[in-house]
Amino acid sequence: MPDSFDIVIAGGGMVGISLALQLGVALPPETSILLVEGFPIPEPAPGEAPVHHPAFDARSTALSYSTRLIYERMQLWDDLSQWLCAIESIHVSSRGRFGSTLLRASDHDWPALGYVVENSWLGNTLIRQLRQGGRVEVRSPAKVIGASPRGTGVSVELAGDVSPVSAELLLVADGANSNLRDCLGVAVSEKPYRQHALVANIAFAEPHRGCAYERFTDEGPLAVLPLLPARDGEHRGSLVWTLPPERAHHLCNCPEEEFLPTLQQRFGYRLGRLLRVGERHEYPLSLVQSSEQVRQGIVVMGNAAHALHPVAGQGFNLALRDVAELARVLAQGVAEGLPAGDLGLLQRYQHRQQKDQHRTIAFSDRVPALFMHADPLLGMGRDLALAGLDFMPGLKREFVRHAAGVSAAGERANG
Ligand SMILES: Cc1cc2nc3c(=O)[nH]c(=O)nc-3n(C[C@H](O)[C@H](O)[C@H](O)COP(=O)(O)OP(=O)(O)OC[C@H]3O[C@@H](n4cnc5c(N)ncnc54)[C@H](O)[C@@H]3O)c2cc1C
Repeated sequence: MPDSFDIVIAGGGMVGISLALQLGVALPPETSILLVEGFPIPEPAPGEAPVHHPAFDARSTALSYSTRLIYERMQLWDDLSQWLCAIESIHVSSRGRFGSTLLRASDHDWPALGYVVENSWLGNTLIRQLRQGGRVEVRSPAKVIGASPRGTGVSVELAGDVSPVSAELLLVADGANSNLRDCLGVAVSEKPYRQHALVANIAFAEPHRGCAYERFTDEGPLAVLPLLPARDGEHRGSLVWTLPPERAHHLCNCPEEEFLPTLQQRFGYRLGRLLRVGERHEYPLSLVQSSEQVRQGIVVMGNAAHALHPVAGQGFNLALRDVAELARVLAQGVAEGLPAGDLGLLQRYQHRQQKDQHRTIAFSDRVPALFMHADPLLGMGRDLALAGLDFMPGLKREFVRHAAGVSAAGERANG
């Protein structure tokens, strides 16, 4: 087994595997790639069952149009399509206030405003492609426990291995609590939102007709994303309910007989009577940003680089745009005869993604703050802003473009 690779990816979550697949497509076959994942990456049964892997848990992810374009280029989209529910409209409202707005894909001549996939099915598709492609060497379960600069590259330590693996480039994709980032001495800033996200699948009496609901309440935003119906035809959605920590903890553990009426009271009857709730999970929320993203031979990616508030569904979509841009820059580097870890090359990547990152992070950070403000005047402004989206089509279009991540993708295609 070789102990030297051009590229080593630490972390095989949604970002790490997408990165491995994208690099496999973008770089010449002689570029060697190793993916190291701490948990066992299972062999998925073809199309039959979702994978069980902690990074592909019970959550669902809203994929933006920019993600669709990237997965189409990677020839993953067709395979993924069978698990996707298209978002045809988004209903944004504020509990106890008059403002609400409906954003419709058809108003923008788009096929959809986004697509919802259960993470376990996204995992199934990504892992199948990784295993079948055979382009990337996978070590799992295996842990990266350290890294240090060596020559122009990096020496990567794997738990249990006597000698380190050497790499031209180490891609750090081991999540928001990245140990590797810490062991490299990369500082992080963390802004706790003092909120937890309660996540669960719910079943309701009426069909969702492809509508995603984003409802702002005095406790925090509550979203219900449309899911494909269950095998028995039951109407389903994915709930992301942002709450103060104690309340999230209580609602996560209380009996269904208490949970459903409480949710019904906060959400209303837009989807008819709530019938059932699946397994509930709780995630503490904070904005985590790494102070550096590139060094000679190192790039920090995904949640390790920036973990965002989930309210606007932007974290993974942004990370995937980072992945696509890094692959583009590394392919240019190969054409220019530069080593993958060349600092100038990696800075080129960072420069190109900076604007998209700043804008997306600011958007995700501002939305929950704006909609939770106790100031009644600001509350009124928020209502007017919601109502105003309907009166000002240009503003509404910009909001939708931003949520879909197409302004960034479009700018890049043009520039
Ligand atoms: C409630 C919620 C809802 C969300 N909804 C959306 C949405 O709708 N749309 C959207 O775009 N984003 C959404 N996000 C954000 C999205 O989930 C994240 O952006 C994404 O999961 C980040 O993936 P990652 O691979 O960077 O990190 P992770 O998923 O944390 O994966 C890290 C991987 O690294 C592995 N690992 C850790 N340490 C090591 C090591 N030392 N060696 C080897 N492997 C290691 C772990 O086992 C894991 O598999 C949401 C987030 C939350 C919390």
